[in-house]
Amino acid sequence: MSFVRSAMHNAACISRAHPSRLFSPNFRSLATVSDQHFRVPVIDFAPFWSDSEGMKKEVARQVVDAFKNIGFMYIKNHGVDEVFVQEVFHESDKFFALPQAVKDELAWKDPRANRGYVKQGRERVTDSTDPEVIKKLRETSPDVKESMEIGLETDPAWKNHWPSTGVAPDFRSTMLKFYDTCHTLHLDVLRSIAMGLGLNERFFDPLADQKCHTLRLLNYPPVSRKLLEKEGQARAGAHSDYGSITFVFQDDVGGLQVQNPHTKNFISATPIPGTIVVNVGDLLARWSNDIFRSTLHRVVSPTRSDAASGFTPRRQSIAFFCNPNWTTMVECLPGCEGLNGPKYPKVLTEDYLVQRLSQTYD
Ligand code: CA
Repeated sequence: MSFVRSAMHNAACISRAHPSRLFSPNFRSLATVSDQHFRVPVIDFAPFWSDSEGMKKEVARQVVDAFKNIGFMYIKNHGVDEVFVQEVFHESDKFFALPQAVKDELAWKDPRANRGYVKQGRERVTDSTDPEVIKKLRETSPDVKESMEIGLETDPAWKNHWPSTGVAPDFRSTMLKFYDTCHTLHLDVLRSIAMGLGLNERFFDPLADQKCHTLRLLNYPPVSRKLLEKEGQARAGAHSDYGSITFVFQDDVGGLQVQNPHTKNFISATPIPGTIVVNVGDLLARWSNDIFRSTLHRVVSPTRSDAASGFTPRRQSIAFFCNPNWTTMVECLPGCEGLNGPKYPKVLTEDYLVQRLSQTYD
């Protein structure tokens, strides 16, 4: 606790010394940014691991700028081995190819657990929080996808739903290794955020060290383009994410789009080989007093298609939803109070996430 207190004290001193830093005129003037200039930046993360304080601070500045202005960034040289990422995709591919009955035995059951297999049409992601609106959407236009959710393996209350080693010998070990890899990267990105906000670099460490994340494998089967383009129908409807940040690993099919909050138009986040898409979730936006943007995004019919059949190509993606510890109290970060003070009451991470997840699934 003394570490946290001293970090906060440190941050408070820094923010007093530079009161204009977090609310720079540059940020405000972006209110008019056109679609032409709305770009998800590609940030080279490797210098953050160098010994040079100046190089680290430059990465931190870029990350914080991207999260303030766009809510999204691509990172390259992120330290996650590309061959390993391909292995994870391969295991995911084999999982979704298992017989439906095998997958159904692993069904997702409870938002507190948030684990298991979700078949097509069960989840409807939306930016609405009205239960009636969500129910209606789910009935009229279910998302065309299936997914598999994996949580903290050592959770005392909830168990992951693993296929047997008989049908998927390497699935569990590969996914657990990937889970740990993404957890480590999450801590590093949080350190860059802390540094960029003028906090102690390790500010978030004790608040996000318990691996309370969700790894989601996604399979978007080929689907009739006509069906997909029907009004209200999308591969994943416009939504924001719930947690701190999300890592998205895309295949080359594409379809992810990010909303320019100024024009409300959706801009493609084209797959860039070797990069990870990183976006701000609602909880981090709230933590930052909305200095960071949790930007609406969706997955639509990809531009590439098999014209002869009228079906879209199959798409795979892997999302890693990062969270603070369940027990972390999220309240306005030091230095983010602005002129009007905190906009939100404090909230316990677990309460916030369970409430959001309960609204999404039936
Ligand atoms: Ca998302």
